[in-house]
Amino acid sequence: MRTTARHGFGAVCAGLAWLAGCGSESLEPWHAPAGSSPPGVPAAPTGELAYEPVDVTVPALYPPGVASPAEERMGLGAAAVTTTVYLHRGGGTFTAGYDDSTQNRSSVLSYYGRTSMVMPAAPYSDADWADLLGRVRAYFAPFDVAITDVRPASAPYVQLAVGATYASVLGLSNNITGIAPLGSCRVVRQAVGFVFTSLLQQPGYGGIAGAAETVAHEIGHTLSLSHEQLSTDLMSYAPRSPTKRFQDADSACGTTSSAVEACSCGGATQNSHRQLLTMVGARVSAPPPPPPSSDVTKPVVALVSPAEGASVSGSSNLEVTVDATDDVGVASLELYWQYNNRRMACNDAIAGTTCTRTGSRWKWTILVGTGERKFKAIAKDAAGNVAETAVRTIALTGAAPAPPPADARPTVTAVLPGAATALNRGQTISFQARATDDRGVADVRAIWTYPGGSLEYPMAQTSPGVYAASTTVSATAASGTRTVTFRATDTTGQTSVTAPITVTVP
Ligand SMILES: [Zn+2]
Repeated sequence: MRTTARHGFGAVCAGLAWLAGCGSESLEPWHAPAGSSPPGVPAAPTGELAYEPVDVTVPALYPPGVASPAEERMGLGAAAVTTTVYLHRGGGTFTAGYDDSTQNRSSVLSYYGRTSMVMPAAPYSDADWADLLGRVRAYFAPFDVAITDVRPASAPYVQLAVGATYASVLGLSNNITGIAPLGSCRVVRQAVGFVFTSLLQQPGYGGIAGAAETVAHEIGHTLSLSHEQLSTDLMSYAPRSPTKRFQDADSACGTTSSAVEACSCGGATQNSHRQLLTMVGARVSAPPPPPPSSDVTKPVVALVSPAEGASVSGSSNLEVTVDATDDVGVASLELYWQYNNRRMACNDAIAGTTCTRTGSRWKWTILVGTGERKFKAIAKDAAGNVAETAVRTIALTGAAPAPPPADARPTVTAVLPGAATALNRGQTISFQARATDDRGVADVRAIWTYPGGSLEYPMAQTSPGVYAASTTVSATAASGTRTVTFRATDTTGQTSVTAPITVTVP
């Protein structure tokens, strides 16, 4: 499972015994920290973060017309087409389904069982937005990636929607600052990801610089990058730092040494810089125009096979045969693959693809996916004369993978205290609850609500599915009723809360 959500409360408690829910201090009195707390998130104590911002990746959903990894990588190095990333600032409605950036459709919503979501506009002034855009562009400067805030006229492009909200807009924990689909060693060409800026706007979260790191991190996921432990890498969860970038260094995957994740491309380590070069290519400057020549005759190029309208087995090796001649000589022959807007020369070494030339015949073998494909061949001679075939359309048979099941919310039931419990001052109160989840329980808390506010107590798992904590009623607690509820959070940040149990202090 490539889902990641980290709840750092336990670790934070060690150094912040005064923080609500930490240590064994009495329930009351309680002095709320100064400053406004986001809903569900304690305010950040001075110099510390009560909650570390985390993010989530969901397994990428590929639409019908599934490109194989070999197709995704074709054309890199020779005549690569720039990968475009659209930073969507204006807000809008997003719907569930296969990722389609042109339609604001996101597999993230499918994953969480939502049919639609309204993303508010980003909260930034024009100057702050320009700052953010500049920082993100700088992170991607080594790579053939164009970052724009104007919606491109044509697909494919990755979209990252940046909005002034918490992840609660998706029913998730408010310390989740971003979500993106992550492909298995492949770019999600039409990916739609999200950055939630409300927590990032709180003091201590780095302002525009912190938001730019988060945006770059989520784009990284859509371009196949897993989390890294290397603290100077943008794919790490390490605190914001001006030296963070996509580092040309190997790193173990996962957010910490105790939260190891599989690397998207396999192996024990990931090098984010090199993986991006593989996936999207290096930034290239325009080639110089060819020298003037007396040769004005174009090459002659023809697609031999497969035939127009052919239906061919998908998820297998497709053979494409092209003939090309020229009165002086064919200098280059490229296959244009419309699905990915890519061109592939015969000598491009790409895993899953072979190409051989025998005289005037070129033969590619491409490990393809499924769905419709359109392609053409482009021949060029040394004088720069270009000829191309008509676009050919074929069908690669085979079913698209089914969408993954939506993640279920955790279940949580109260065990202790019992209904109508009376508690004297100085008495110990025991909290116990049962919690389960289809993908794993990340956090269970007892929430104690009293007339002056509420306190949260992280609970430890004492046996499978059973969580417990205890504390002591303050000697100065006022008479009256209290309520106890239990909240379970799963590994993707979804929560469930029990009905309140009433407790009386006589
Ligand atoms: Zn992440």
